[in-house]
Amino acid sequence: MFEKIAVIGAGTMGHGIAEIVALKGYSVFMCDVSEEILQEAIKKIEWSLRKMMEKGKLRHDDLASTLNRIKTTTNLAEAAKDSELIIEAVPENLELKKEIFSKLDKMAYAEAILGTNTSSLPISEIASVTSRPDKVIGIHFFNPPVFMPLVEIVCGDKTSSQTVDHVLSFVKTLEKQAIVCRKDVPGFVVNRILEALIQEAAWMVHRGEASILEVDSAVKYRAKLPMGLFELSDYVGIDVLYSAGKAIQDRDKGVIVSPLFEEYYKNGWYGKKSGKGFYTYTGDLWEKPKIPPELADNVKLEEIFAPAVNAAAWLLRNKVVEKEELDKAVMLGLNFPEGILRMADKWGIDVIVQVLRLKQSKYGEYYRPDLLLEEMVANNRLGIKTRGGFYEYA
Ligand code: NAD
Repeated sequence: MFEKIAVIGAGTMGHGIAEIVALKGYSVFMCDVSEEILQEAIKKIEWSLRKMMEKGKLRHDDLASTLNRIKTTTNLAEAAKDSELIIEAVPENLELKKEIFSKLDKMAYAEAILGTNTSSLPISEIASVTSRPDKVIGIHFFNPPVFMPLVEIVCGDKTSSQTVDHVLSFVKTLEKQAIVCRKDVPGFVVNRILEALIQEAAWMVHRGEASILEVDSAVKYRAKLPMGLFELSDYVGIDVLYSAGKAIQDRDKGVIVSPLFEEYYKNGWYGKKSGKGFYTYTGDLWEKPKIPPELADNVKLEEIFAPAVNAAAWLLRNKVVEKEELDKAVMLGLNFPEGILRMADKWGIDVIVQVLRLKQSKYGEYYRPDLLLEEMVANNRLGIKTRGGFYEYA
């Protein structure tokens, strides 16, 4: 198992990854381009550890020893030299990541594993600039890494099973749950499903089929997600979701970004951080939009979720992920109250297929039901009502 770990990039994700890794006993070298950024990252880690201590979740001694385990440097070679695992978390820019991986390949041990925290870039392309593509892997933490329980492990075309096993064991030592995305598909598992869901909500509003409040009310009070989809978009950042959606669209059209998102993105209405997104904000950190529960019945959940179920079926049919792991991914990565496949089994696979066919006839091929869903309907595997769908029911 690894003893020394390097984290490259000490921004939003990098400092959080360094924190959780150090908390679990590893020595970490955190690398960024300036001393100021590194000092800022250490301050944020210390603040977060103090909060844990105030809540009784960390002892005073452990706070000091965790901080002692984190070293900082602006020298990439110094960070890479003795590390057995390197996790890159620099901005989402393919050329930058390739440049860093090419350098790391020359600086690190021949046996070291090179991980990337990318949310949307192809792992295989990043790996292609190294002499060890079998040891390059996606290690996708969610924000904030210290608290989010899921890590999505993503295989490039040449990632070896040994590398996957090593990283799975490592994630276990962080007391996090892992799912394995076995193919390097755009959006991986979690973002592919999230984008299909969020963009459909935005398409429905754009087409005048529902209002923002009606969608959010249905999703929050009937589907029981912790936030409405527009509320979530404002929270995550409309710019972040727009770019991730575009990255999937450009690579294989697994989602089509809605004109509504395009408009908000172009106007700089990014959500909470810019004071305006789908809702408006006054700047209070804990502020939440008011979503009236009485609108929850105005829109059918199947209409909103059908493309996300279709994306899930595509992932299963293409053997990207196992069904239990897919459901675990949406529950732990997106805070769904239950798996999306279980939800589909409740709504009925025939109902999902009907919704998709209608949308396909009106709006085009993006909505064509996946072959897996068509087969399930043909074989009368309609979900709970026929006691068999994605899962079996007694
Ligand atoms: P960020 O901009 O907050 O941080 C990136 C850091 O990398 C900055 O501190 C920057 O100074 C540093 N950096 C830039 N060039 C560098 C170099 N050559 N060497 C060392 N450090 C360098 O970005 P972020 O939000 O932390 O995202 C990092 C990665 O994590 C991206 O690939 C992103 O897609 C992914 N990700 C982000 C989130 C999120 O919610 N922010 C969630 C999951 C994954």
